[in-house]
Amino acid sequence: MDISIPPQVDDILRKLTGNGQEACVVGGCVRDSLLGRKPNDWDVATSSRPEETKRIFAGTPTIETGLKHGTVTVLSGGMPVEVTTYRVDGAYSDGRHPDAVAFTGSLKEDLARRDFTINALAYRPGSGLVDLFGGRDDLAGRRIRCVGEADRRFREDGLRILRALRFASVLGFSIEQETAAAALRNRELLDRIAKERIQAEFTKLLCGKGAAKILREYREIIARFIPEIRPAFGFEQHNPHHSFDVWEHTLRCVDAVEPEPALRLAVFLHDLGKPSCYSRDADGVGHFYGHAAAGGELARKILARLRYDKKTAGTVLTLVKCHDQPLPPDERLLRRRLNKLGEKNLRLLFRVAAADTKGKSPADRARLASLRKAEAVLETLLARNACFSLGGLAVNGGDLLKIGVPEGTEVGRTLRALLDAVMDGKCPNSKEALLAYARKGVTGP
Ligand code: ATP
Ligand code: MG
Repeated sequence: MDISIPPQVDDILRKLTGNGQEACVVGGCVRDSLLGRKPNDWDVATSSRPEETKRIFAGTPTIETGLKHGTVTVLSGGMPVEVTTYRVDGAYSDGRHPDAVAFTGSLKEDLARRDFTINALAYRPGSGLVDLFGGRDDLAGRRIRCVGEADRRFREDGLRILRALRFASVLGFSIEQETAAAALRNRELLDRIAKERIQAEFTKLLCGKGAAKILREYREIIARFIPEIRPAFGFEQHNPHHSFDVWEHTLRCVDAVEPEPALRLAVFLHDLGKPSCYSRDADGVGHFYGHAAAGGELARKILARLRYDKKTAGTVLTLVKCHDQPLPPDERLLRRRLNKLGEKNLRLLFRVAAADTKGKSPADRARLASLRKAEAVLETLLARNACFSLGGLAVNGGDLLKIGVPEGTEVGRTLRALLDAVMDGKCPNSKEALLAYARKGVTGP
């Protein structure tokens, strides 16, 4: 079994071995290569100590990424490659980081400290795969399994619980029974993990192809850091448009939306406001008036707690709060939506609305068709450069002053009135027409 290693990485391996050291590629890049996926980055493990590594690469730019942990980043032909000394981790007293790491000459010891068997594979050109923990078998069986005793490995570093879920979701794998049971059993260990780390793993999990399956199976682990999902579990909607409970509907929507962080997050959070807004009418039909706003409140708290950046949180909040607004194939209304949301968010809102519809049972094909039509209308509006903001108007404040509109708040009011007239199709967006419209006295008495 051969792995095709980029020349920049091969170069590093050769230099290290040429200096009497052992060196191999290790971890994610080996896993991804064997799966036929393109590795994100290439990591090198070596018997060479950091000082020695720096000496060997004296002629090449290097970055001291984490000398204490044995990592030197070598910029090989412009490509950053982490070169890390074989190491064993000391005791883990904080449930996340080893108190100390010790270098070792043994690849076996280095592989044994790694989290999952599929991440504990190494490869050396010439001698081939080093698979000491059954990683290749688990790749073939599409399983995530801890290296060694799962309970102990999760107690060392609680983040591994979420990493197990993340890899399972991204790769479309399942989690081996022992590892799964230990992950569930030890879920309170996540309380000690930095929220930023949880956020990073959770976002990748959400964007994985197996997200719904993993969220469904391991909801108790997710509820450890997002307890707000709990009321959605099994919450029946008693509505002819919904045969799924709120949680199951949510999961189906997650799988139905494009795997981009803001979209997946928005869809994951969109209906969390439902349980607190539930009512039933005289016919016994369930309603959730105000759930988008209530969901927005929950989402705001969750996104802040998990330290999402302002931009992502802002987009997600907008989408959650607007997710149930009608999006009919109507030019006038779509211009209004463009004015309120802007092009980018409105496009995203269409993705959320489509997913929300796909996640329903029975399927609402008429609504999907209507959404597709509305998107086509939006595209033509945008292609024609339709005006939906003050900046897009063919006149500005200066033009209005010239025709005698009094300085001050009147100018803004007139511009807004002109924009409304354009968006409503009452006035074309040309300077002449707008000034004539303004002269006719849109400003009123
Ligand atoms: P990707 O880069 O695609 O997210 P990866 O497997 O390369 O996946 P990294 O987080 O880059 O993941 O870690 C590189 C390697 O380091 C892993 O493959 C694994 O062998 C080891 N590793 C990373 N984090 C841990 C951890 N928390 N516990 C044990 N080993 C870990
Ligand atoms: Mg990596």
